[in-house]
Amino acid sequence: MKTIDNYNFHGRKALIRVDFNVPLNENFEISDTTRIDAAVPTISKILAEGGAVILMSHLGRPKTGPEDKYSLKHLLPYLNKVLGVKVGFAGDCIGEEAVEKAQALKGGEVLLLENLRFYPEETKGNEAFAEKLARLGDVYINDAFGTAHRAHASTAIIAKFFPNDKLFGYIMGNELANINKVLVDTQRPFTAILGGAKVSGKIEIIRNLLGKVDNLLIGGGMMFTFIKAMGGKVGNSLVEEELIGVAKETLIKAKELGVNLMIPVDALAADAFDNEAQKLSCSSMEVPDGWMGLDIGPETVKQFTGVIEKSKTILWNGPMGVFEFSNFEAGTRAIAEAVAKSTGKGAFSLIGGGDSVAAINKYNLADKVSYVSTGGGAMLEYIEGKELPGVTAIES
Ligand code: AMP
Repeated sequence: MKTIDNYNFHGRKALIRVDFNVPLNENFEISDTTRIDAAVPTISKILAEGGAVILMSHLGRPKTGPEDKYSLKHLLPYLNKVLGVKVGFAGDCIGEEAVEKAQALKGGEVLLLENLRFYPEETKGNEAFAEKLARLGDVYINDAFGTAHRAHASTAIIAKFFPNDKLFGYIMGNELANINKVLVDTQRPFTAILGGAKVSGKIEIIRNLLGKVDNLLIGGGMMFTFIKAMGGKVGNSLVEEELIGVAKETLIKAKELGVNLMIPVDALAADAFDNEAQKLSCSSMEVPDGWMGLDIGPETVKQFTGVIEKSKTILWNGPMGVFEFSNFEAGTRAIAEAVAKSTGKGAFSLIGGGDSVAAINKYNLADKVSYVSTGGGAMLEYIEGKELPGVTAIES
């Protein structure tokens, strides 16, 4: 992998695409600095070697040009503090000011460019715009995994202007190395756990994983489309009628491939979508009319945790039930604990996708699993087997 580890930045100007799309409060203070903090190791390595750093990012979704609330200047106080140097700022990411300030940069200095998305050319992947950005540095680094699935000017198109000087930063390198441990250098048995609300968002993931996993455990709202495909009664549970055919095909395909596809045998149902609703334990095939399944049941938990604890590689995406409701979180919590326990016994576990990340954090288990991906959409597209333009641009 082309990472910054084997590159000497002394006397070089590194143009880094970072993901500084952080949440700001009404006083323009950063309410969660995780994304900036994650980029510090890459920046620090370059500065320590006597290189200069030019940072470029997007922030929010500005519609028609510059908007003060989306200005990256709001990040300067925190950047000064966390990097320990006074960070310069160019009020336009391209043009004279940016060129002059970039040229004047010395080793150990940092320049932050204004929001890339003040130009619609950024998301359109405009080549002329990418070329203007490219003029600012002499080595290009992509450390924005969260936008790696987009062919934007600064995330992919720009790389062609640095044929011999394009690299992955540490965040990108880490995300790819950890996902590849699951998808490429897989230790068996490999178990994928999929949950969340809908099958529709996960079809491509299911298709790609069926050819790779030993066990596929399905929970969450999406289980009921499978239950219906198997001829079960789902009551008012979440079902995507138009995907019953896809669920049937998946069941057949799993059998053909010898994949152990497990659909929950029992459920915890509610008489309303409410934490305080009446509860009913039932067979997942027999959810009565007027009831909806909001969690997997105890027998399913027993079966799933048995498989998870025997696994050597685990990928988890999506909660097993409505874990935001304390009365319907038991299944998700038990699965999170089983993943942590299996990790403690030597399995490699990767948690990816918004709500399973939220779940693992809710149960304070983030440091008891192998890796929690920050990638969101990029991570999901990678698991779907899609090429990520931001990755291909560096590798090609
Ligand atoms: P997703 O974004 O598709 O991963 O879905 C995550 C959401 O699915 C969470 O907010 C859960 O509350 C919800 N969810 C999980 N299980 C169920 C269920 N059985 N019925 C309805 N919603 C569910």
